[in-house]
Amino acid sequence: MNEIPYKIYLTEDEMPKAWYNLRSAMKNKPAPLLNPGTHEPMKAEELAPVFCEELIKQELDNDTEYFPIPDEIYNFYKMFRPSPLVRAYFLEKALGTPAKIYYKFEGNNTSGSHKLNSAIAQAYYAKKQGLKGVTTETGAGQWGTALSMACSYFGLDCKVYMVKVSYEQKPFRREVMRTYGADVTPSPSMTTNIGKKILEAHPGTTGSLGCAISEAVEVATSTPGYRYVLGSVLNQVLLHQSIIGLETQAALDKYGEKPDIVIGCAGGGSNLGGLIAPFMRDKINGDLDCRIIAVEPASCPSLTRGVYAYDFCDTGMVCPLAKMYTLGSNFIPSANHAGGLRYHGMSSTLSQLYDDGLMEARSVVQTDVFKAAEQFARVEGILPAPESSHAIKVAIDEALKCKETGEAKTIVFGLTGTGYFDLVAYQKFHDGDMSDYIPTDEDLQKSFDTLPKT
Ligand SMILES: *Cc1c(COP(=O)(O)O)cnc(C)c1O
Repeated sequence: MNEIPYKIYLTEDEMPKAWYNLRSAMKNKPAPLLNPGTHEPMKAEELAPVFCEELIKQELDNDTEYFPIPDEIYNFYKMFRPSPLVRAYFLEKALGTPAKIYYKFEGNNTSGSHKLNSAIAQAYYAKKQGLKGVTTETGAGQWGTALSMACSYFGLDCKVYMVKVSYEQKPFRREVMRTYGADVTPSPSMTTNIGKKILEAHPGTTGSLGCAISEAVEVATSTPGYRYVLGSVLNQVLLHQSIIGLETQAALDKYGEKPDIVIGCAGGGSNLGGLIAPFMRDKINGDLDCRIIAVEPASCPSLTRGVYAYDFCDTGMVCPLAKMYTLGSNFIPSANHAGGLRYHGMSSTLSQLYDDGLMEARSVVQTDVFKAAEQFARVEGILPAPESSHAIKVAIDEALKCKETGEAKTIVFGLTGTGYFDLVAYQKFHDGDMSDYIPTDEDLQKSFDTLPKT
């Protein structure tokens, strides 16, 4: 076998030509979206006022294995893909572990994360349908940035509702989006009916993703030529993100490597769903014996402490109901939570896989996450995003277990992005001002009590 280089690159020709639909391999399919009024499965016609036609087809298709990547998207991907799979030799050495650690780095584009993989696809289908523009929400700002880039590439208008607390704390994120021509509004705002209602009920609220989604959907459905797009959670987003996993598997195959453990951080589940797609398929088919671990913040623990139930995707309760591991659509993580991954629910695909026992989940507190981030940055030379650092933390934990047992396991984790816009959080950590907040059972129960009855 060849010696494994520090970075395994694929050539442009080796980049996968189609996205892989993990649902096609699942014995138990993810539960369908339900109409919030009738509680019947949503039909394509009912979704059409909200989403682009081609994306609806992708959303509802549980059977097609591969979706060819259109040339326009493929060519755009070539600007920043294939992304490197890095062997973390220096981290292994620092830990003194016999484990082989690899990370797939998705931070090599201006949005600083994997989100551009789906943003460009969604903008493409909106353009192809002849739309004028799209609306969306953004929390920390990576998705809004990615979508702004994609929309400017295809000449689409882009209206972003940005969670107010981030809008105020991350003014430079906003400036990047404006550089790409996006119109950015802090949410909740007075520009929508739902925003006015939320502000009336909760004056001074700093907002949440659930609120921002409701505002973005309202604007999309009430403005001719507009549709709404979402950066995570949905099946279509996991489909686009499968490029991460397909490239990872192709790169490992070059050196005859197979992962024993695949680890990813999980907010809405898109990077993890993409990273694990081919590995989970092989696991389901009995071709690969590997553990798959989702890592989430202890302050927003949807898989590890949530319930598996139909819930609203947004605060305004205008979106379809999705069956998922959820903390309840009213759940708002503590304001001292710094590291993204704040959505109340989890992709229904990942929720089903978790419920079927095919995937594990772990929650970690943020001070441990930043410790791991710093340890990683000092040896591997990349300033990781706090979200990504959840995966780093568990990769380090697993590598240290290998040190105890002497096993040379192959660990692969997703390094979803860079942390340049998260330096206020790093500063808090360095100054000793960061604390860990874990919601109590009572906190969670209050939120569970508001779940819709289906
Ligand atoms: C958005 C984001 C995540 C979490 O989103 P998923 O949909 O769960 O992947 C993780 N890391 C980074 C850098 C992000 O921007």
